[in-house]
Amino acid sequence: MTTATITTKEILLPEEYQFIDNFCQSHQPVEMIKLAAFLADRFGLNVSLDPDIVAGFATDSSNLPGHADALCRPANERECAAVMRACFAAKIPMTVTAGQSNLTGSATAEGGMVIALGRMTTPEVAIDLEKRLVTVPVGMVLEEMRNLVLDQSGGKLYYPVDPTSRSDAWIGGTIACNASGFIPGEIGATREWVEELSFLLPNGLKIQARRGQYRSADGLFQLQHGDQTTAWPVPTYPRPAIKNASGPFSAADGSMDFIDLIVGSEGLFGLVTAAVLRLAPRPAAYLDLFFSLPGEAEALKFQDYLYRHLEGDFGRLAALEYFG
Ligand SMILES: Cc1cc2nc3c(=O)[nH]c(=O)nc-3n(C[C@H](O)[C@H](O)[C@H](O)COP(=O)(O)OP(=O)(O)OC[C@H]3O[C@@H](n4cnc5c(N)ncnc54)[C@H](O)[C@@H]3O)c2cc1C
Repeated sequence: MTTATITTKEILLPEEYQFIDNFCQSHQPVEMIKLAAFLADRFGLNVSLDPDIVAGFATDSSNLPGHADALCRPANERECAAVMRACFAAKIPMTVTAGQSNLTGSATAEGGMVIALGRMTTPEVAIDLEKRLVTVPVGMVLEEMRNLVLDQSGGKLYYPVDPTSRSDAWIGGTIACNASGFIPGEIGATREWVEELSFLLPNGLKIQARRGQYRSADGLFQLQHGDQTTAWPVPTYPRPAIKNASGPFSAADGSMDFIDLIVGSEGLFGLVTAAVLRLAPRPAAYLDLFFSLPGEAEALKFQDYLYRHLEGDFGRLAALEYFG
């Protein structure tokens, strides 16, 4: 059954959430050095305050200037929940970072805590041949996962999203950026292939969502935790009729799948800790063609021709690239 009401789950014990909240309330404003010691003592978390180490995680491939006060490298959902809850309660900004290959500055920190996901390597990559699904961690390089899928399926299935940065970007980063590969159109972007997400809100509570399970109604999701309900408005800005892969998804009628809201949201709403992705049958063979055209006008005409020939479905091509 599809519903707009999302029940959040606790990853820590209720008293652990309370304990973190109490610590932060009684130490306002919370000094990072005290928070780091608290997280180490109570949750075994390693939080580095070494400026040289932190600096290496505070910027990305946008080359924008960034800085942070601390770095945390959680290894599982529980550790993610603890550091997020602590930052949330202490009002410390959090920046999630993965392969640091984005070009928009979305993993460039502006102070606060960097949460780097390189140790988030569970669950192990496991495919379901029959359902054509793969369970994946977020802290793995995309290309490594694509190769494991080929191995595990005996070359029968593949994960079709192949951004140029596939050997640098991590799975979680490609989900957060809705990374697009060489297949033209929506089908070449990550969103099309995400079936299920494990997701932590900034307050350290979890949402486990399957595609089709949660759909906003009248522009809202309702987050339910115990007897508390919080309305979560979804973006309704008009989507331009050009490539528009990244940034929070929008639905003019206020009705969207929760998965679509999270894919492409660049870490704004929280942290993806694991996912289930759809796979496709691997084409038996490829025919590579290279056309040399006199100019852009001819390239556009050629695209129109292809569009008609493919009955409006560029997704039938394994790749289409224009070099101007
Ligand atoms: C040479 C080069 C080629 C590229 N080619 C392409 C291309 O062909 N197609 C394309 O789409 N992009 C391309 N990119 C851009 C970039 O590789 C992608 O945007 C990629 O998806 C970023 O992944 P990442 O792991 O590096 O994430 P990062 O750069 O570390 O982070 C990107 C964003 O995702 C968020 N994030 C990361 N992990 C999570 C998580 N688990 N949960 C929540 N939020 C998270 C971060 O907070 C940040 O907002 C290219 C970049 C370079 C440098």
